[in-house]
Amino acid sequence: MKSKNVTFKAKIAIAILFLFWATAVKANPSSLSVKLFQARARMNSVFVRAPFVIVNPTRAVFNEGLFEFTDGGRGIVLRKVGGAKQKEIIRAPYVVMAGRNGAALVIGPEQAHLRKYYGEITVSKEPAAAGKPAKMTALNLVDNFNYVSSVVGGETTPQFGKEALKAMAVLVYTRLAPKGKHPTVCDTTDEMVYLGAEHERPEVIDAVNEIDRVRLLYDGKPAQVFFHACCAGRTSDGVDIFGAGAKPLVYLKGVRCEHCKGSPLYSLTVKQIPAAIFHREIASSEPKVIKIDKADRIVEAEIQKSGKIETISGYQLWLRVGQKLGWDKAPGTRYEIKRAAGAYIIKSSGGGHGVGLCQWGAQGLSRQGKTHAEILKYYFPGTTLEKR
Ligand SMILES: [Zn+2]
Repeated sequence: MKSKNVTFKAKIAIAILFLFWATAVKANPSSLSVKLFQARARMNSVFVRAPFVIVNPTRAVFNEGLFEFTDGGRGIVLRKVGGAKQKEIIRAPYVVMAGRNGAALVIGPEQAHLRKYYGEITVSKEPAAAGKPAKMTALNLVDNFNYVSSVVGGETTPQFGKEALKAMAVLVYTRLAPKGKHPTVCDTTDEMVYLGAEHERPEVIDAVNEIDRVRLLYDGKPAQVFFHACCAGRTSDGVDIFGAGAKPLVYLKGVRCEHCKGSPLYSLTVKQIPAAIFHREIASSEPKVIKIDKADRIVEAEIQKSGKIETISGYQLWLRVGQKLGWDKAPGTRYEIKRAAGAYIIKSSGGGHGVGLCQWGAQGLSRQGKTHAEILKYYFPGTTLEKR
């Protein structure tokens, strides 16, 4: 009986493998896979709101209700929320779903925070790896066009003019260039923030359509492009923020920018951190600035912690402040940290690292009538747009 069961399971596994292979082959050459909800350390549940269709490993249509995937030991289990707890609808190593009739799929790790995604989503359980427990994953197979539109929409606000949106679309296509034909990316700032279909505003779709996959080139090859929310006066050379590795990227050149005054981040942010917290998380005294760049951003600093002196780049120190104390404490890399009575005062202006395109500056330039080509040339001197 037992061996019969194993054989049956093996057959199912082979059938499932074949189905998965068939699905993978179906992937459009201009599509990519995005690992969703990566900002979360761990997903215990994935919720899906009907209507939706399961296409693999079986086919089933769900017309109404909320459903929940949970960890089912070797795979995942689907149940209806509010239905009988023990009633399993599907138990499988993975499930591939899509919205009904090309609509977006409504899905998320919490009932209260569901998002909409075009394309297919595979929910599965990634096996345990060295030192890491097994975890549930959600992988979105999405068309490049939808991905780029969502990223551009998420990085901008409805105030952004069309040429600023087009400049952003070029940068997103350029970022995808070195990743190959069918890349797998994550949905956080480690790559680009991708929050699904709701960010595909009509004006963004028009802008992405007009760009039609054009990329920014330097010396005939796609450039390594960077963007940030607001430089508040001047962008920085890539080498001064990211270090020697950015030296060959000569087009990451600091430029004056008074065009980002419309940004809420343009003015100074001032925060006070209790000394005990600063000492525990960052350093035991005021950081000593060693070198500053033309944009008044710290290039190199020295900090003391646990009796040791550490030389650190201004960017690394900024990341540490954000990670340990919260990203609202110094939104931009033009910052200073001063000791005061019983506290440390952190002042910063702008938002983000300050290298490459200033997004609010691009918005200001588009309002002045500049084209996306002019905007990109301004922030990435020496680059050209690919011709299609
Ligand atoms: Zn700016």
